[in-house]
Amino acid sequence: MENNNDDYGYGYAPPEEKSPEEEFFHSVYIGGVERKNHIGVVEQAGKLHIRGVKYNLDEVCFIITHVKPVLVRKTKVNGKIKTACFSYQNTKPWKGSTGNICPSNRNDRDATPACNGCRAEVILAGLLCEKSGKPILNGKQPIFVFVRGRGVKSMNTYKYLDEIAKVDLPPIFPENPSLEKRIVKNKRYVTIVKKGTVGTDFGIKNVFEFSFGPKIDNKFIQKILKIQKETIPQFNEKFDWSVNIQQAVQEDHEQQESSGSDYAQSEPQTNQEESKHQEPQTEGNPSGFDFDDIPF
Ligand SMILES: [Zn+2]
Repeated sequence: MENNNDDYGYGYAPPEEKSPEEEFFHSVYIGGVERKNHIGVVEQAGKLHIRGVKYNLDEVCFIITHVKPVLVRKTKVNGKIKTACFSYQNTKPWKGSTGNICPSNRNDRDATPACNGCRAEVILAGLLCEKSGKPILNGKQPIFVFVRGRGVKSMNTYKYLDEIAKVDLPPIFPENPSLEKRIVKNKRYVTIVKKGTVGTDFGIKNVFEFSFGPKIDNKFIQKILKIQKETIPQFNEKFDWSVNIQQAVQEDHEQQESSGSDYAQSEPQTNQEESKHQEPQTEGNPSGFDFDDIPF
């Protein structure tokens, strides 16, 4: 819409509604039932799809930029699942969008009426890349993707985060162990996502399966950190539903359509079983790709 100062002097245009395909962070999801999508591509059941980017994949590789745990409480209103309460966990103690304080573990939340049904979710977002770690660009721009570990999908996601926590490499910032642990460790390897399955009380469900790809060359870590920092506003806009709880409702609707219902299942209890430590691949780097090619 043109905003021409010469005519009315006030060219108000309503904020543009972005379709999920145009968003900055593209959802990675597992096809529930086969369906033809908006561009006529048949999204096969059980395949991985990156909304607005690529479809019918067996694996998706990305370099983690952001990891964000949140708390979500769902309710069913007229047969539709809606978000009743949401915590971005950006205060201490955590607060929900309804104003209640969210206890930090599942048992305490279940024992608190306001938080009963509150479930932990964790979002892993990052730069889409080839298996080598070479970023896949759209023109000159990197493509950001995310997976949401929730419901049955949360267990593997937490397990993978556990494995990341155990990564034992010489630190990039030895003088700052906290930064290393919180922000840097998850950027040391390419993350590979595939589809797995898990048996539940509700039958066999599709889940994400995570594994380490090649190690990222140390010289790229600074650049990835910079990208992480510079995209925090976009990340918050997309994932901080406490700002706009309506957004949460839309997203849920979308999720239901694309990947079938995956609520009402378990999240790991506070005493997680010791996960098998997976040996990351050690060879390789992003095939000489220079992150400086990405304009930021
Ligand atoms: Zn809560």
